[in-house]
Amino acid sequence: MTDYAIPVPPQPSLPVAGSPLRFPVRRIFCVGRNYAEHAREMGNDPDREPPFFFTKPADALVEDGATVAYPPATADLHYEAELVVALGKGGADIPVAEALGHIWGCAAGNDLTRRDLQAQAKAMKRPWDMAKGFDASAVCGALTPYDGRAFTGRIRCLVNGAERQSADLADMIWPVADVIAHLSGLVTLRPGDLIYTGTPAGVGALVHGDTCVVEVEGIGSVSTTIA
Ligand code: MN
Repeated sequence: MTDYAIPVPPQPSLPVAGSPLRFPVRRIFCVGRNYAEHAREMGNDPDREPPFFFTKPADALVEDGATVAYPPATADLHYEAELVVALGKGGADIPVAEALGHIWGCAAGNDLTRRDLQAQAKAMKRPWDMAKGFDASAVCGALTPYDGRAFTGRIRCLVNGAERQSADLADMIWPVADVIAHLSGLVTLRPGDLIYTGTPAGVGALVHGDTCVVEVEGIGSVSTTIA
């Protein structure tokens, strides 16, 4: 047994739908632009870009039903409704045809973003870490074990009950299998890794008191209140 100099930080984890078990989270990867209409609304050409990735710290996870304090250092906090996949099996250079077999479960997620800091980072050619990987930035619902189904179905974001985003998972530029394959060529993936698979068009701001719900058809939902 190892003796540590300070108490060991808690293991980040997510609930599993319909089970007392929790899923331990290792790393959180996110796809930058993966729906054509969202790429256009951010001023980019969706036809010319391979997938790119950024990360959030695992301890930035926020579960369903949480109240999150409006984060510091921003005046433009945005929601981004996303399908999240959790890996039960790792690997490097995973072939597209085998990629879906690495998925353990799926969830509805919200890639909270300090949009003003992101715009500033882009303009100054600086990293996105502080725009994307701040405390409580990785909203994720309970994981539903993956049954091998094709990724189609509605993904929606509602703010105070009003629909702000609505798309089909089949609209992704890079399907989930391609995302996993591509990412595994950049880093070795491991069990416990989460991948946020990108957001559709319609991103926008959240303010104090808002309740933001992300729903993914057949998978689940996650609700967050900004206080
Ligand atoms: Mn995103």
